[in-house]
Amino acid sequence: MTEVDAIVAGAGLWGCAAARILAEKGRAVLVLERRPHVGGNVRCDTDPETGIELHAYGSHIFHTHIDRVWDFVRRFAEFNGYQHKVLARHAGKTYFLPLGLALVNQFYGLDMAPSELPAFIAAEAAKGFAGGRAPANFEEQAISSIGKPLYDAFIREYTRKQWGTDPCNLGADIVKRLPVRASYDINYFPDYRQGIPLAGYNSLFDRMLDHPKITVECNVDWAARRSEFPHGVPVFYSGPVDELFGYKFGPLPWRSLRFEQERMPLADFQGTSVVNYVDADVPYTRIHEFKHYHPENAAVMASRQTIVCREYPRAWKPGDEPYYPVDTAESRELLALYQAEAANVPNLVLGGRLGEYKYYDMDRSVDRAMEATSRF
Ligand code: UDP
Repeated sequence: MTEVDAIVAGAGLWGCAAARILAEKGRAVLVLERRPHVGGNVRCDTDPETGIELHAYGSHIFHTHIDRVWDFVRRFAEFNGYQHKVLARHAGKTYFLPLGLALVNQFYGLDMAPSELPAFIAAEAAKGFAGGRAPANFEEQAISSIGKPLYDAFIREYTRKQWGTDPCNLGADIVKRLPVRASYDINYFPDYRQGIPLAGYNSLFDRMLDHPKITVECNVDWAARRSEFPHGVPVFYSGPVDELFGYKFGPLPWRSLRFEQERMPLADFQGTSVVNYVDADVPYTRIHEFKHYHPENAAVMASRQTIVCREYPRAWKPGDEPYYPVDTAESRELLALYQAEAANVPNLVLGGRLGEYKYYDMDRSVDRAMEATSRF
C-alpha cells in the first residue's frame, strides 16, 4: 500500500466494521492488529477432531434490533437462526432465564398468568426497596426492579463472582441487561434478529476485510508504527484507552476471564449452550457447551464427543486480556481524564469496548463504528 488514508488500530468488530465502511467510501485503510489474528474476542477455533466451533474468548451470540446493523453483517455472513437460551443452576435446581414466568413461577412455586406477574414483582420490589429516592447502585437498582428473594438467588452471588466486588459498588446500568418478562418467552435476548454465522465467526471477519482498499497486518502494535504516519491521517483506535496514554492517570479497572476447556466422551453434557452457576459455592460463573451453537450442523451434533468450557472471572492487571470495563464512580472519573486527553489528539477516534470503555454488545460495536466513520 503506497498511500494510507486511514489507520484502524485493533481488528475487533468495531475496527473491522470501521475499516470496511471507510474502504467503501474510497479510503485506503491500513488495519494493524497486535494479535496474530483478526476478530478480537469474537475469534473462534475449530476443533480438528469434531469440527466444533470453539469460541476462544467465551460465547458470542449475534443479536440486534438495529436494522442497519443487521443489514450490514448479513452482507458478510449467513446466520443460522440460533436463538439463545440460558439456564441457571441454583440450589440444586435448573431454571430458565431470563426472569420471566417460567423462572418466577418455578422459584416461588406459583402458577401465575402473564397478567399477574407485573403486580407480583412490583410488590416484591416494594418490600425490598423503600423508594423515596432513586436507586444508587447495582444492588438497589436490582432489588427495586425484581425484589430481594430473586436478587439473592440469581443475581447477587453471580454478580459478585463476575465483577469481583460487592454489587453495591457497581453502577446501576448493568441491571438494564436483566429485563423481567411477563411471558414464557425464554429467548435470552429480546431480539428476533439473532444467530451465529453458518460458516463461523472467522469467515465473517475475513469477508468484511476482503476489500481492495483494505490492507491487514497482524502481529503489529500500533504504538510501534505510529511515527511512520503523517499526523493528518485519522486513526481509529480500539485498544484499551488507558494503555494508549501509557496509563498516565493509572489503569482503568477491567475484569478479565480465564477459561478451562474440557473434551468429554459424551454426545451432550448439559443439553444447551450456556448454563449459569449463580451460587457462591461454585467458583465459575458459567459452562459453555459450544456444539449447541450449530444445531444445523448434523456432523457436529452427531459427534460422540463434546467440548465444554468453564468460565472463571478474575482480577485484571496490565498485560492481561481485558474483557469487561468495570463501571464504578471512580472508573467514570478516570475515564473522563482519558477522554479529555484523547480529545486533544487530532484525528483520533476511539471505539469498541476497550477504546470507549463501554460494555457494548457486538451489534452496538457495529452501530458505533457506523457513527464514528460517518464524518470521514
Ligand atoms: N447476571 C446475574 N445472574 C445471571 C446472569 C447475569 O446476576 O444469571 C448479572 C451479572 O451482574 C452480569 C450481568 O447480569 O454481569 C449481565 O449479564 P449478561 O448475561 O448480559 O453478561 P455477559 O454475557 O455479557 O457476560
